[in-house]
Amino acid sequence: MEIVEVFIFVIGAVIGSYLNVLIYRLPRRIDSIFTRSRCAFCGCKIRWYHNIPILSFIFLKGRCAKCGYNISLIYPFVELVTACAFLYFYRCYGLSIYFVENSTLFSMLTVLAFIDAKFYVLPDKITKPGIVTGILFSFIKGEEYILPSLLGLSVGGGILYILAKSWQLLRGQEGMGLGDVKMMGMVGAFIGVNRLIYVMLIASLLGLIFSLLSFIIWKRPINKPLPFGVFISTATIVEIISICLRNG
Ligand SMILES: [Zn+2]
Repeated sequence: MEIVEVFIFVIGAVIGSYLNVLIYRLPRRIDSIFTRSRCAFCGCKIRWYHNIPILSFIFLKGRCAKCGYNISLIYPFVELVTACAFLYFYRCYGLSIYFVENSTLFSMLTVLAFIDAKFYVLPDKITKPGIVTGILFSFIKGEEYILPSLLGLSVGGGILYILAKSWQLLRGQEGMGLGDVKMMGMVGAFIGVNRLIYVMLIASLLGLIFSLLSFIIWKRPINKPLPFGVFISTATIVEIISICLRNG
């Protein structure tokens, strides 16, 4: 591993650590910049040397230094996965706009997936700036990316909006939230309309498999709303990782 790669990995882990902060605080409406990290159980302030991505979790054996409360495995997991993703995108694209774009999209998708899995919401604070960022990247990358990006936004947002509304009219209940609509618009703005079609197919398939399996295994009611953002997120991450493999 080159020294630059070590540096990228560390940056990824540090950003992953901030993603954890967003995952915890956004759905609880806690300020994410000026509030110091606290233990979720005893409320003690976490010292900087107990807050080092991945390493602190290992040294503290997954427990709060003060009260011994078990720290969720999600924290080191998000840090490690983000670090690996950044390294992967660096190896694919070098230090380029594509590296920054894919890493940004990956980070936003990770935050949305974890929040949706637990709270069934996709915060506007991520999806709305996400739409703007996706379009901005298309302008930076070059003229030929602008139209696919704008179409991606309108198809992603538009088709899902129509689906969500017709479901609501037919069934008299909300099947898909507007958060999913905005998230799909965001993904479309980033990856463009052509690749978005694959993502929509894979995400729907994952959602279907999940609702069938969870119905059979855990008797989860089939009409219970799905955290669809988790499947959009998974499908998009599969797409942005595999396109790099395909282009080899
Ligand atoms: Zn504690």
